[in-house]
Amino acid sequence: ALTIGIVGLPNVGKSTLFNALTRQTILAANYPFATIEPNVGVVNLPDERLGRLAEIFSSERILPATVSFVDIAGIVKGASEGEGLGNQFLANIREAHAIAQVVRVFEDDNVIHVDGKVDPTSDMGTINTELILADMQTLENAIPKLEKQVKGKKAEQSTLDAYLEAQKVLEDGRTIFSAKASLDMDELKQLSLLTAKPFIYVFNADEGVLGSEEKQAELAASVAPAQAVFLDAKFESELVDMSEEEAAEMLEMNGQEESGLDQLARVGFETLGLQTYLTAGPKEARAWTINQGDTAPEAAGVIHTDFQKGFIKAEIVSFDDLISAGTMAEAKAAGKVRMEGKEYVMKDGDVVEFRFAV
Ligand code: GDP
Repeated sequence: ALTIGIVGLPNVGKSTLFNALTRQTILAANYPFATIEPNVGVVNLPDERLGRLAEIFSSERILPATVSFVDIAGIVKGASEGEGLGNQFLANIREAHAIAQVVRVFEDDNVIHVDGKVDPTSDMGTINTELILADMQTLENAIPKLEKQVKGKKAEQSTLDAYLEAQKVLEDGRTIFSAKASLDMDELKQLSLLTAKPFIYVFNADEGVLGSEEKQAELAASVAPAQAVFLDAKFESELVDMSEEEAAEMLEMNGQEESGLDQLARVGFETLGLQTYLTAGPKEARAWTINQGDTAPEAAGVIHTDFQKGFIKAEIVSFDDLISAGTMAEAKAAGKVRMEGKEYVMKDGDVVEFRFAV
C-alpha cells in the first residue's frame, strides 16, 4: 500500500498527531489480516456515500478506503552538516510515497521551540534544506556516471539534461516537487529523489490561525503547489477519544465541518494519486482504492486478480444517479446503468458490479 511519511522538527506535535492517527487505527479492526507496524497509522478515508449505499442495499457493514501514515522520527537541524541524515531516516523517507511535514504554528510558552521562537517559514526551510542536501548528494553521485554513459551512447542526453536541471533547482534551495511543472519528472523517477515526492504541509495551529482564513490562505500560498492542512494536533488527539456525538458537537462549536484528521486523510489520499470506486450489496458497502486513471479491468483486479483476467464488462451507475433514482432497479429502468468495457477509465463515485468469466 502507498504510505505517507510524517516528518518535522522536534516539539512541533508529530507524536501528538501520530498518536491521534494510531488511535483511529483501532477502527481498522475491519481489516483483521493486515499486520500493522507500530510506526504505521492506518486511518479511514471519510466517505458519507457509503452510509447512503448501505441504506439502499441494506448492507450489513461498511468498509471505507484507508490511508497509511508512517511516523519517521529523526530529523534535526544541522544533521546534514554533521554526519548527514541518519541512514535509517533516509531509507524510511525514501520508502514513503509522499511526505507530510508537520509545522508548528501554535503559540505555547510551555512548549519549547528548538530555535527559541515559532517561525514556520524558517522551520520549513530547515527541514527542506536537509532533504535538498540529501538529493544534491544523490545527483552529485549520479551525474558523473551518467555523463560517461552518454559519451558511450549507453544513455540519453535528455536524461542528463533533466538531471542538470534538477541540480539547478536544488542549488536554488527549492524542492523538486515545487518545481515539477518545469522539470522532466519521468526522467528523474529512477533517482527516487526525496524532494520529488508529493508534499503536504500539516500546520499544527491554534485558534489564532484556525480562526483566520487570511492567515491560512497566506500559509497555503507559501507552500503551493504542495497541499496545506490546518489542524490542532492536541484537539485532534482529544477528539478521537470522544463518542461520535460528542466529537460532532465539539467540531460544530469550533465552526469546523470535519476533523483535521479527516481532512488530512482526504488530502493524503488525493496527494498519493488515489481514487475510489464503490460496490454495494447485502453484505457490505465498500470503497475500493485504485490509481487515478485506472481502467475498469484494473479496478476489477483490486477485488481479485481473476476479475481482471476474466473481465467482460462493468455495470456502472454514478452515485448521484443512483441516489436520484432511489434503488438499483429504478436506476436501471431510467437507463442510468451503463455497460462499460475494457477501455473505460474509472470515475470517482462509480458504483460498480463487474461481469467476468473464470
Ligand atoms: P514532536 O516532538 O514533534 O513529536 O512533538 P510532540 O507531539 O511530542 O509535542 C511536543 C509538545 O507540544 C507536547 O507537550 C505537546 O503536548 C505539545 N503540543 C502538540 N501539539 C500541540 C498543539 O496543537 N497545541 C499546543 N498548545 N501544544 C501542542
